[in-house]
Formats: sequence, C-alpha cells, structure tokens
Amino acid sequence: MKIVVLKFGGTSVGSTDRIKKVAKIITSYLPKSYKVIVVTSAMSGVTNELVRKSKEISNNFIAEEYDVLVSAGEQMSCSLISGRLNHLGYKSRSWLGWQVPIFTKGNHASARIKNIYKKNIIKYLKSGGIPIIAGFQGINSSSRVTTIGRGGTDASAIMLARFFKAEKCIIYTDVDGVYTTDPNTIRKAKKIKKISYEEMLEMASSGSKVMQPHSIQDARLNRIDIEVRSSFKKAAGTIITKRKNILSNKIIRGVSFTKNDAKITLVGVKDKPGVAASIFEPLYKNSINVDMVVQNISSNGKETDLTFTIKSDDLSKTEKLIKKNKKINFKKIIVDDKVSKVSIIGVGMITTPGVTYRMFNALAKKNINIIVISTSEIKISVLVSRKDLNKAISILHKEFNLEN
Ligand code: ASP
Ligand code: MG
Repeated sequence: MKIVVLKFGGTSVGSTDRIKKVAKIITSYLPKSYKVIVVTSAMSGVTNELVRKSKEISNNFIAEEYDVLVSAGEQMSCSLISGRLNHLGYKSRSWLGWQVPIFTKGNHASARIKNIYKKNIIKYLKSGGIPIIAGFQGINSSSRVTTIGRGGTDASAIMLARFFKAEKCIIYTDVDGVYTTDPNTIRKAKKIKKISYEEMLEMASSGSKVMQPHSIQDARLNRIDIEVRSSFKKAAGTIITKRKNILSNKIIRGVSFTKNDAKITLVGVKDKPGVAASIFEPLYKNSINVDMVVQNISSNGKETDLTFTIKSDDLSKTEKLIKKNKKINFKKIIVDDKVSKVSIIGVGMITTPGVTYRMFNALAKKNINIIVISTSEIKISVLVSRKDLNKAISILHKEFNLEN
C-alpha cells in the first residue's frame, strides 16, 4: 500500500472556505493511487483562544484538564474536513487521538507519541476510506487525553508517517517552503529546494518558524523525507531530507534570526568552580531557556565577567532570580533587551575553512559590532544590536551567495 500523510496547519484550515480547498487537495492524491492519511491542526487562533480561557478560569489550570480543553480545536477541524469529503461523495471519517489510539508518554501538555495502533486505520484505508486524524493529541496509559506541545501536529504527522511507513509526508502550511531567510524581511530571499534535517533543525531553533523543531528531530531519527508546501499556491515546496540526497555547492544554506533576545552581563563574578552552575540552576528550575553563554577568561584569577542571553519575555523574571540568588557574588549586573541573534547555517562549513572570517569581515565592513559569538558544527551565531539586525541579515545573505 502506497501511503501519503498530509498535514494541514492552522491557517490551511482557518475558515470553512479554506477547508473546502483542503478537501480538494486531499482528493487530488487519489488518482495517483495513494492511500491518504490526513492529520490536521486546529483552525488558526482556536488553540490560543482555548489557552486564554484556561487562564481566565485559573492561573494554575490543572494540566489534565488543560489537555482536554486545548485538544478541542483539532476535534472541530477534523470533523469539518471529513464532513466536506462526505459532502463531495467520498468515504471519510474523523479519528480523535484516543480513537486511533495514539499512545503518548510523558507530562501533560508536552507528551511524546510512543506508539500508534494501526489496525483500524489500515482496515479503513483498505476499504477506500480517508481517515482524518486530529493532530496534537493522544492518550496516556491512564487513558487521559494528552497533548504534545504547541505546534505539535507536525510531530503527529511525522509519527504517523513513521508508523504507517508512508512514502511521503507533506506538511501543508501558509508559506510555500523554507527560504534562505525570511522573505518578509529580505526581498531577495530564495526558496530552498532541498535542505538537510540538521540544517533545518538549526534554522528552526534559531528563528525560522516553518516547522516545530522537535518534529524535525523525529523525522531525522526516523529518516522520513518531508515536503513543506503551501495549501494556498500550487508551487513545489522544500524537501527536508538526509544530507546524502542533496547535491549543492552552497556552503551556507540560510540565514536565520531572532529579534526578541535580551542579554545579561554579570560583572566581577567570583571565579571558582560551580559558579556558573549556581547562576543557571534557578533559571533552569523556572524553565527559563538560556541561549548563548560567554565567560571571559579571568584576568586576575579571582573574578570574571559572564554574559548570557535569554528571551526578552523572561528578562525581568531572570533579573529577579539572579538578584535574590544567595549562592553567587558579583559587582554589577548589566542588562540589554535591544539585541538580536543572527545565524548562518550550512553543513558546507564543516569542510570549508574561512567561513567564520568571511562572516565577521562582512559584518565589520558594514560597521556592525558583534556582541557575543556562539558556534556549533554547522552554525555560527552572533548577537548584534537590534538596530543593526536587518543590515546584518542582508549583508550575510549576500556574502554567502544566497541571492542566486
Ligand atoms: N493547534 C495546536 C497549536 O496551535 C497544534 C498545532 O497547530 O500543531 O499549537
Ligand atoms: Mg498551529
């Protein structure tokens, strides 16, 4: 059986008109002798609205009920899609997570899919039916409804593709693919035809919002090719695949960025073992994500300066936690919430010397000051002042020939 998994995101099912278009896209796969499994997000805005309601009821809304509540959006959209297919004369029905069932493990609101029961869906596919599965949800071993993290329908799609050994997994969204950088910011951004899992993962975690990062990781581990394409336009999208499948001479695949960063510097921190751990422990316990970290080499052997970045939203909470932390001593705290991170990403940099130099030199020529640098095997990120952000993206995009 040739199976294709089609995932539709929130804007793709954002109105009943959109859902009618989605039904057309789904049926276009049938003449190609594919068996189609559909998985859908909630209509855009619906999940946010449910989250908002939970907060109105309680700022400590119990996790078990939160999952029942926020998974309701997908229940609406999957029934609307199958309702439309039925209207057009096709055999189709909706499946909620517990009906499949899709088994998850882990905490409510951030559970992970661990198994999918296949028998009923396979039988239905063989009978000519089109199953429309609610994304984002499952059940745990206590038969409670679970959800798998915001944007989780991407992960539902990948796991369905894995368990049903799908030939293709297509993510329909509101952009027509992955671009070399944000096309709304840089007009010369180009659509990428193929990108490796690793590059996509780095792009996603450094600001490119096309797909949820952990679903890309699931796809990588399970070697599932994904195509990201638009449900609004016919154009071919971007394929996310293994490095071996990509023939390209580009060193850098893309430039990503985040706007809402903040930087904290602790000046004159006692330089002794365990200090960094003491600084970050309360942040971790409060689920504050620390991104870039630099510690200067101590010039007098006693004290050092430590700089790190977090999301701007977490700034005031972080400042408070640092100030009331009895385990650390420092002379001064400096905060700056007008910084942004720009990253260049590409597996080509592993084998090409001089990429770091080219990046820094390009920024220097435009008089852009680099505040913090961090690197991974396939990514170099710099923190710059927010006023320099667009200039930095544009110069790096040009420097690494991403315009053509
Ligand atoms: N509806 C959920 C959300 O908005 C899941 C998803 O869209 O993938 O986070
Ligand atoms: Mg969504």
